Amino acid sequence: MKPKEARKLTVTLIIVGFVVMLMGYFHGAFFALGACVSFAALIPNFLFYRCPHCGRYLGRSDGAFCQHCGERLEE
Ligand SMILES: [Zn+2]
Repeated sequence: MKPKEARKLTVTLIIVGFVVMLMGYFHGAFFALGACVSFAALIPNFLFYRCPHCGRYLGRSDGAFCQHCGERLEE
């Protein structure tokens, strides 16, 4: 998985989780489910949001270059 795809998946899961959490207004179980989905969103982020060159975690950086080795993230 490419870093950009991992970032996209993470953002999508967080949004879905947030929407489900809002549904917790109607039923408490939705809130717990949404919290789980949002938390699970961090897993692909930690596993795949890494530099393909040096393998280090990119953190909150959203730039086109790795802040550790300076290599381009997109080819
Ligand atoms: Zn790097």
